[in-house]
Amino acid sequence: MSSDSGAGIGSFYPPQRTLMGPGPSEIHPRVFSAMGRPTIGYLDPVFVKMMDELKELLRYAFQTRNSLTFPVSGPGSVGMEMCFVNMVSPGDKVIVCRNGVFGGRMIENVERCGGVAIVVEDPMGAPIDPDKVEEAFRNNPDAKILAFVHAETSTGVASDAKTLAGIARKHGAYTIVDAVTSLAGIPVLVDEWGLDAVYSGSQKCLSCTPGLSPITFSDRVVELVKARKTRVQSWFMDINLLLGYWGETTRTYHHTAPTNALYSLHEALVMLREEGLEAAWARHERNHKALRAGLETLGLKFLVEEPYRLPQMNAVYVMPGVDEKEVRRRLLAEFNIEIGAGLGTLAGKIWRFGIMGYSCKMENVMLCLCALESMFDDMGAKIEIGAAEAAAYHAYAAHPSRAKGVRAVA
Ligand SMILES: *Cc1c(COP(=O)(O)O)cnc(C)c1O
Repeated sequence: MSSDSGAGIGSFYPPQRTLMGPGPSEIHPRVFSAMGRPTIGYLDPVFVKMMDELKELLRYAFQTRNSLTFPVSGPGSVGMEMCFVNMVSPGDKVIVCRNGVFGGRMIENVERCGGVAIVVEDPMGAPIDPDKVEEAFRNNPDAKILAFVHAETSTGVASDAKTLAGIARKHGAYTIVDAVTSLAGIPVLVDEWGLDAVYSGSQKCLSCTPGLSPITFSDRVVELVKARKTRVQSWFMDINLLLGYWGETTRTYHHTAPTNALYSLHEALVMLREEGLEAAWARHERNHKALRAGLETLGLKFLVEEPYRLPQMNAVYVMPGVDEKEVRRRLLAEFNIEIGAGLGTLAGKIWRFGIMGYSCKMENVMLCLCALESMFDDMGAKIEIGAAEAAAYHAYAAHPSRAKGVRAVA
């Protein structure tokens, strides 16, 4: 006789939230409905055709012709790990840039693969300093790979991927680039910048359901992995084996593809194609300017200096005199809004406002500013009710896209 644990548990209905944290972002109804379509076999010719379309759509998103471009069955962290386990052989030197939490995870990956991490440090909130990377290569001419995070979600800073990749190429090194938060929010030009291995996540600016990691590898990487003297330590992530399923010519069983999640990614990418990459970047910029105007009107100061700010991830110092956690708790409980907290050394010191993908819209910006005002006022901070929304409104109205109508395009 089994125990009766679980008795009385019914269906789970999550609340409808406004998601303005570090991801997941909100999901368009078209993407949800794609997920509910019939599950078919992963070798069904109809499914295989959808896979080819997915690869083509991802090449558009990454701006690449790389044939090995596909979604990894796993979250962004698996995409990260896939790059390292395939490209790092025991003893390899890897220059890793750390200016936030995710750069730290890259170091961990290098070490677990038996590689030697040469760490280039920059402060939390600062971009990666190309001069330090250049110096690291001068001191380590045998370094094989440069690994860095393009958009550090933990601080909201963008680094100059094009310049960093140029330095790596000059020194004959490969690049591993984390584009989890940057893809579809700011330009990620894989071929133009000469990036080798780039991974992203489905749940940030692509606004798809979480759990998939779009990835692209240059032909150089495929050659490197084929020429390895030691086996890739992970069976699941070995691209030599995955090529049999996601490659150009064969389609043989490797693992059961997460079919319905792939439908939703396909739909999210079709929507990105319809909007156009440039338009998506411009939308993030426009909403960022309005959110920034509102946050600054409230007296909040940005962690990152202006030229390096990510439009999709806005980190500001906590308002003096208010309880950091209580603000987040009440935003969720009273306004259904999720925002992000600080990580690591920034815990308790900053809030992170994400406007990624489908979350990047005027109604979210306005609602969030309104909620902050009423809460700050209630908590005794000296602010002027209505001023932040007015500032945001004027930022929208001043934008060149005003001609098309503020609401329709924001
Ligand atoms: C979110 C994120 C990841 C990890 O992605 P998961 O899908 O949570 O595994 C990696 N890098 C960056 C920069 C991220 O923002």
